[in-house]
Amino acid sequence: MASPFSGALQLTDLDDFIAPSQDCIKPMKVDKRSGSGVAKIHIEDDGSYFQVSQRGPWGTGFSCFQDGGMKKLEKAKISLDDCLACSGCVTSAETVLITQQSHEELRKVLGANKTAAPDQQKLVVISVSPQSRASLAVRFQLNPTDTARKLTAFFKKIGAHYVFDTAFSRNFSLLESQREFVQRFRGQADPKQALPVLTSACPGWICYAEKTHGSTVLPHISTARSPQQVMGSLVKDFFAQQQVYHATVMPCYDKKLEASRPDFFSQEHQTRDVDCVITTGEVFKLLEEEGVSLSELEPAPLDSLCSSASAQEPTSHRGGGSGGYLEHVFRHAAQELFGIHVTEVTYRPLRNKDLQEVILERDGQVLLHFAAAYGFRNIQNLVQKLKRGRCPYHFVEVMACPAGCLNGGGQLKVPDMPGKELLQQVERLYGLVRTEAPEDAPGVQELYEHWLQGAGSERAGRLLHTSYRAVEKAGSGLSIRW
Ligand code: SF4
Repeated sequence: MASPFSGALQLTDLDDFIAPSQDCIKPMKVDKRSGSGVAKIHIEDDGSYFQVSQRGPWGTGFSCFQDGGMKKLEKAKISLDDCLACSGCVTSAETVLITQQSHEELRKVLGANKTAAPDQQKLVVISVSPQSRASLAVRFQLNPTDTARKLTAFFKKIGAHYVFDTAFSRNFSLLESQREFVQRFRGQADPKQALPVLTSACPGWICYAEKTHGSTVLPHISTARSPQQVMGSLVKDFFAQQQVYHATVMPCYDKKLEASRPDFFSQEHQTRDVDCVITTGEVFKLLEEEGVSLSELEPAPLDSLCSSASAQEPTSHRGGGSGGYLEHVFRHAAQELFGIHVTEVTYRPLRNKDLQEVILERDGQVLLHFAAAYGFRNIQNLVQKLKRGRCPYHFVEVMACPAGCLNGGGQLKVPDMPGKELLQQVERLYGLVRTEAPEDAPGVQELYEHWLQGAGSERAGRLLHTSYRAVEKAGSGLSIRW
């Protein structure tokens, strides 16, 4: 089976494809105690492990004075977090995740809710990405507003309590990216955080950077959380008094890896910010399994997280199907840093259509130099330039998928429609919704004030930002094979 993950993610370790039970490599902590001798591992019939110590007269491994001590050993467990933290393989994580985060898992929770006592039921929240909505709109030949309303009706029919749109949480992700860029440009940020700023909303790219280029690239990556993860902290905080199950609908499988990062486990609420990620394709499967055609459903009103943001229609942002990070940060920085109001952002294609640049000039002097680099080839070139100290950009919108998020690996195919035409249709429908500036989006300033205790507060920093770490290659001396 072809891997559903983005090309950049697969290429981090494609050469060691393994299945988890065959040959997993996990670095293990070895407890060395002085004076301990040789130990044998004894396996009982029931599969439990015992360490049988054999101690020699000088604390060495001679076996003439065996003390016969038996110590039961804990079984090593491999979780998805281990797979993410290990540079051994990406494909193991894939197999683990497909069972941990799937539409079947969502079904199970919805099913359990139906039979549970009222005080044991979970509040089920589903957050849908605008990219997935556009893909479903093309597949069912609907306009984006009808698609959003009918999707809300469908999820409520199968037991969800609320259905939100991650375009709302993207407002926070964009605003935090803008703020962070201006700080770094002015040299007001942590000196370790350097220019150019590289976007962080694509987990395929983040995973690749952490596993392959570690300390060279990570200080450049924006710490702003992606729309999925902002929505995660918002939902879990908003409904903190209840037991919440939060699922998102996303255009790629890489988002499952993002939701599983230990950084996105809320210590405050002792839960993951996002419990389950399903792809657009999995929503289609759910519809099929329920025997429902989206086109035939009666539309339902859209839900909103904020009283002042009564959502009658879905909204989006300017700047393309991957979130518009380049465009929003560019406009904001031009105004904030140089007092220049940019009405139209002009993209200049470079070597290929997935590599474009945008320049702000005054009197022939380049003030801002931004780029968008999509797909593995362009990412690799960008990283090489960065390593050689020859990267001319101040900001780069980096996305692992060629053509960006509308072309994610979890999006729907349409029978008899060639890929290029399908992508054009998805782009067209994605662009049919009203766009709004994140500063002006209803409810955003209200939430900054009441939820986050103000923009730039400690709480906003904690709930809207994250950090990255280089993943060390597992050395064979510290590894066990089992
Ligand atoms: Fe997912 Fe978008 Fe990144 Fe593709 S570019 S892996 S769709 S986040």
